[in-house]
Amino acid sequence: MRKRIYLCLARMSEDDLEMKYIREAFDTRWVAPLGPNVNAFEKDLENFVNGTELEKRVVALSAGTAAVHLALLACGVGPGDEVMVQSFTFCASANPVRYLGATPVFVDSEEGSWNMDPELLDAAIRDRIAKTGRKPKAIVPTALYGMPYRIDAILEVAGKYGIPVVEDCAEGLGSRFNGRVLGTFGQYGVLSFNGNKIITTSGGGALVCPDAAAKERIMWYATQAREAYPYYQHEAIGYNYRMSNICAGIGRGQMTVLDKHISHHRHVYELYRELFRDVDGIEVHCNPDSRFDSNFWLNTITIAPELHVKGQENAYDTVVKGAVGGAAGVVRATECAHTDCEPNANVEALRVFLDQKGIEARPLWKPMHKQPVYKDAPAYVNGVSEALFKCGMCLPSGPYVGDEEVRYIVECVKDAIV
Ligand SMILES: *Cc1c(COP(=O)(O)O)cnc(C)c1O
Repeated sequence: MRKRIYLCLARMSEDDLEMKYIREAFDTRWVAPLGPNVNAFEKDLENFVNGTELEKRVVALSAGTAAVHLALLACGVGPGDEVMVQSFTFCASANPVRYLGATPVFVDSEEGSWNMDPELLDAAIRDRIAKTGRKPKAIVPTALYGMPYRIDAILEVAGKYGIPVVEDCAEGLGSRFNGRVLGTFGQYGVLSFNGNKIITTSGGGALVCPDAAAKERIMWYATQAREAYPYYQHEAIGYNYRMSNICAGIGRGQMTVLDKHISHHRHVYELYRELFRDVDGIEVHCNPDSRFDSNFWLNTITIAPELHVKGQENAYDTVVKGAVGGAAGVVRATECAHTDCEPNANVEALRVFLDQKGIEARPLWKPMHKQPVYKDAPAYVNGVSEALFKCGMCLPSGPYVGDEEVRYIVECVKDAIV
């Protein structure tokens, strides 16, 4: 029987360097949330994002979500403040705004990149200032599925109002805009090394900081904000967000395969594009122009509403048992199969069809402004993310997805179409 094909599973380096660095941590008794692997992993990340031009500093943290949280804290976000957040994203871009007692203001996407629409952002900021008399404290665009946002235009808007940008490139490690690595444009850049990301530390993240002083401040917040006394002395509320030396060991090994993984994801994209070329009603999402250079962390397609998929009459008849990404642990039963904003019936039918063929596919992320938990948050919408959510789908793209798997997936999609 064929092995189940997952969206994106982590793969270790061929010579198991990850184990070597973990072993080192044990042998040198650095089993702690700091140590030589953490420092070396940060250096590796700095070399990667900086190339020969930049001098950014990187802090390794326990999660990408922690990186978002500390970046916003460093931007001065506090109770009562507002933060402009891309609506078409994973909840981890927005939740830390709430952790800080602030309000996310959601901004819809533009059609080319599927990411934050700079014109809408500009109009939204103007309206927030008119309504509240205060400037939003930060702008958070997301490189959704690895695709760069229009960072040139976003920085222009940000500069006009003097608002810092926190780039959420949790999904976009190694993606570039105009040749420059994402995460190095804004004041801060968020990276994630969760198990499903382009490289993994099992769980972990990092924050790209503008300079050594900013890095030091983030590290201080990440280690419970301890003052320099021989005893525990605290003058601010800190967090326990530093990366473990064991996880950083995995990260060091993973850094040796990062370029290879990115090339692989791009190769998988090329193949999907070629194989779907002659399939009417299915579009593969691609770089909108030559400035954009996605890592294609996940390959995504849109499915025309009129395309008929086997079983779509009965889509949503069965209630999903366990949340998407159930492997991540948290699972809740739901009573009703429908919400007021959901993928089209043909998309759900295709998901179920592929699932039965041993292929994990997933709808696009549901926009935050349509999430019940954020129903009271202000939102500036143009219909783009909602329309994409209804007709889009993510396909397996990781290092275990070879040419043969891509061909099989595309054949199955064709089989599903009546
Ligand atoms: C994964 C992800 C995060 C959070 O990263 P974790 O390491 O899982 O905490 C943040 N934003 C986006 C867009 C993500 O996909």
